[in-house]
Amino acid sequence: MEWTLSPFTIYLGVKGKLKNINHHNYFLGNNFNEYADTIFKTGVSPQKPYYYVNVSSKSNPESAPEGCENIFILCPVPDLRHKPDWSDTNTLADNIISDLSKRIDFDLEANTLTKTILNPVDWQDKFNLYRGSGLGLAHGLNQIGGLRPANKDEVFNNLYYVGASTLPGTGLPIVVISSRLVTERIEKDHAGI
Ligand SMILES: Cc1cc2nc3c(=O)[nH]c(=O)nc-3n(C[C@H](O)[C@H](O)[C@H](O)COP(=O)(O)OP(=O)(O)OC[C@H]3O[C@@H](n4cnc5c(N)ncnc54)[C@H](O)[C@@H]3O)c2cc1C
Repeated sequence: MEWTLSPFTIYLGVKGKLKNINHHNYFLGNNFNEYADTIFKTGVSPQKPYYYVNVSSKSNPESAPEGCENIFILCPVPDLRHKPDWSDTNTLADNIISDLSKRIDFDLEANTLTKTILNPVDWQDKFNLYRGSGLGLAHGLNQIGGLRPANKDEVFNNLYYVGASTLPGTGLPIVVISSRLVTERIEKDHAGI
């Protein structure tokens, strides 16, 4: 089966207001194909990472103390099948923070008040995510619809599955639909009980 990428996430609380950034931001380079190939097929730590940045304090000032901002950085990286060793976590985080500092012309390192980093091992251990795969089973053509693991067990009549790696698929709105489908199915299958 094919699995989705792993998240490498950084959570920063910084002193100062950031001018050159929005609530939602994507920082991409000109090596997209090379990068996508790297993270899905090899264990090499991404040298020029692509990443998404969310600064919710831009829209919701109450989510950070006055005069400060909160920053969430999400970088897609190889999962634990391809890269089991994350001893370079701090190096990768420093690369990303340094790159972002240059792009927004703000010294994040010097103004950091709090910093939390989660690598694929953390995501696996904290949430039991298989091999640290952030979104569960991938949505390739051979893993959707009737080809995706079903919500009901094939052997046990009273065992049901809900969530990202079952039907209909991954992502918050979709797993909510999954829970509704399972609920409806249980009610239908066991109506008389
Ligand atoms: C970094 C990141 C960013 C994302 N961003 C988005 C986004 O912007 N939009 C979007 O739609 N989706 C996003 N997703 C995907 C979305 O979060 C998942 O698809 C969704 O949360 C899956 O829901 P779930 O209920 O299947 O699993 P989960 O949300 O993983 O919930 C499973 C729960 O079960 C617990 N658990 C696991 N094993 C056990 C056990 N043995 N015993 C007891 N408890 C257990 C876990 O701790 C967890 O709390 C993101 C995912 C990640 C990792």
